[in-house]
Amino acid sequence: MPAGSVKLQSIKKLGQENHSYEFSDEEPAGSYMTMTTSKDNEKGPGKEEQPAIRVGFFQLFRFSTCNDLLMMVMGSVCAVLHGSAQPLVLLVFGLLTDTFVEYDIELNELRDDRKECVNNTIQWKRNYTAGNSLITKLNQSDWSFMNNSTWEMLTPLKGRSCGLLDIEYEMTNFAYYYVGIGAAVFILGYFQISLWVTAAARQILLIRKLYFSKVMRMEIGWFDCTSIGELNTRMSDDINKINDAIADQVAIFLQRFTTFVGGFCIGFIKGWKLTLVIVSASPLIGIGAGLMALFVAKLTGMELQAYAKAGAVADEVLSSIRTVAAFGGEKKEVKRYDNNLISAQRWGIRKGLVMGFFTGFMWMVIFLCYALAFWYGSSLVLDTEEYTPGTLLQVFFGVLVGAMNLGQASPCLEAFAAGRGAATLIFETIDREPEIDCLSEAGYKLDRVKGDIEFHNVTFYYPSRPEVKILDQLSVAVKSGETTAFVGPSGAGKSTAIQLIQRFYDPKEGMVTLDGHDIRGLNIQWLRSLIGIVEQEPVLFATTVAENIRYGRPGVSMEEIITAAKEANAYNFIMDLPQKFDTLVGEGGGQMSGGQKQRIAIARALVRNPRILLLDMATSALDNESEAVVQEALDKPVARQ
Ligand code: ADP
Ligand code: MG
Repeated sequence: MPAGSVKLQSIKKLGQENHSYEFSDEEPAGSYMTMTTSKDNEKGPGKEEQPAIRVGFFQLFRFSTCNDLLMMVMGSVCAVLHGSAQPLVLLVFGLLTDTFVEYDIELNELRDDRKECVNNTIQWKRNYTAGNSLITKLNQSDWSFMNNSTWEMLTPLKGRSCGLLDIEYEMTNFAYYYVGIGAAVFILGYFQISLWVTAAARQILLIRKLYFSKVMRMEIGWFDCTSIGELNTRMSDDINKINDAIADQVAIFLQRFTTFVGGFCIGFIKGWKLTLVIVSASPLIGIGAGLMALFVAKLTGMELQAYAKAGAVADEVLSSIRTVAAFGGEKKEVKRYDNNLISAQRWGIRKGLVMGFFTGFMWMVIFLCYALAFWYGSSLVLDTEEYTPGTLLQVFFGVLVGAMNLGQASPCLEAFAAGRGAATLIFETIDREPEIDCLSEAGYKLDRVKGDIEFHNVTFYYPSRPEVKILDQLSVAVKSGETTAFVGPSGAGKSTAIQLIQRFYDPKEGMVTLDGHDIRGLNIQWLRSLIGIVEQEPVLFATTVAENIRYGRPGVSMEEIITAAKEANAYNFIMDLPQKFDTLVGEGGGQMSGGQKQRIAIARALVRNPRILLLDMATSALDNESEAVVQEALDKPVARQ
């Protein structure tokens, strides 16, 4: 392992003047690689598994304030009123139909020459003579001719005085009803949706804030057991799912459900017989809708999986585009991507076929329902005269509209279930108390720090891999003012020991002390403020060089940044950059070389003026000359202590 030995060498150099501790090689080198792969495998199935729903629907609203509650209650009232508008329209519609029919009947009777209108009632003419046969002989086919003459005949009779309905007046009234309902629906619909959406937006903001701040407070071990990609999806997808469940979907559900109840009420009150007949056909619609939902969900899952595979290919290829280009794998990768797309397309087509069939089937059932209802309904109107034509229409459309709205309300139920599922993990995270709380105010702050660090029989294993002991009864004393180096093969536990000093993890047995105090009893923020660290693989933020160094100590002046950069032997190369200290380093420092990154990270640690400086192979990526310069600078803070 030539690369490893170079790194080791540099560590040995650090330890030359003082003590060095040999770590036993418990773990074979390269085991770190194994760890990452096995972790990846762990997150695969974890992502697909939907967590069991452990959040009740009303618990979704646990972060609502009084104002939010008020908004939601008012929104619900609007939704219920909005939902009753459609049954109301049906009532008006039934009345309107009956009025028309009544008018038509009267019209027909008045057209009869043998009848006349006396005191608002139509009765047989007293002076009717059979000889007056001109009009009686007329039959349906002469309607067009009669139509004109009837109107002429009726003109003087028009008006209330004669018993005949003032149809224009009545219809204008109905028009006013509709205008009124229309205006009300406009206002109700507006408030129903806007109130619920506003309340949800406020709650979601709070949930996001709480979630992110809780995640930031979690101990490092928690991050080992949770994949970062998953956290990202939770922040975006899962919180959006909660939003769907507590926003307009609730309002829409309330509205549709009210329409359903109203429609069926009209049906059962106005004509239970016809309602029962129509309802008897509904299982067919239900089965159709259920099967369709089932197939579509399954096929969509397959399709998404295929797309996800294609996406994973694209992801992998794009992130390692240099390797692909170097080995000429472009064509191969395009083919691999295409293959996955084709399978996604196949599932998409199947979904289309299934959806097409069931859509057709359902509409067929609905039209068959029409046929059944009107066939049976007309016999109720004509033969038994139980219903007026208006009632027939009211009952029929009442049940139909009710059923349709029930169907349209079911996607809302799906959204609620998805929201509750998503909330399960989010809320559990929000409720979880971190084992090592980095924002905790508890713990001592020592007045004077000498800087003696000691490991007392420390045994440690990572929470994500409890079966592998990393440190076994380790006892080390790091004296103040000295440089101590840990030396050992890759995977021996050097970085782990450093993380224990930072209190990223707590030892499972034994303790780590600072000046004789168990660090578990110290204030964690304060402890970490003493420490400057250069990690093995330093991570920079996607901002300027100066900002990255300032991250070590917020509010530090430019002079101090420059001094730190000089100490880290970074000043010269920074001044050669196009915008000097204002040069952007790229995502994760990607636009810097490994050595440059390391030197910026060293400057970041030095600018902190730390009491304890932890270097995890801090100069591994530097050439010998730079390393010597940095080494010299690194000894300085030690000398200061
Ligand atoms: P090194 O001495 O090379 O710095 P480390 O301290 O990084 O070694 O790692 C020691 C052992 O701990 C390795 O076998 C590695 O696989 C394992 N390990 C390191 N980090 C983790 C982690 N976050 N979770 C589980 N195991 C880890
Ligand atoms: Mg290491």
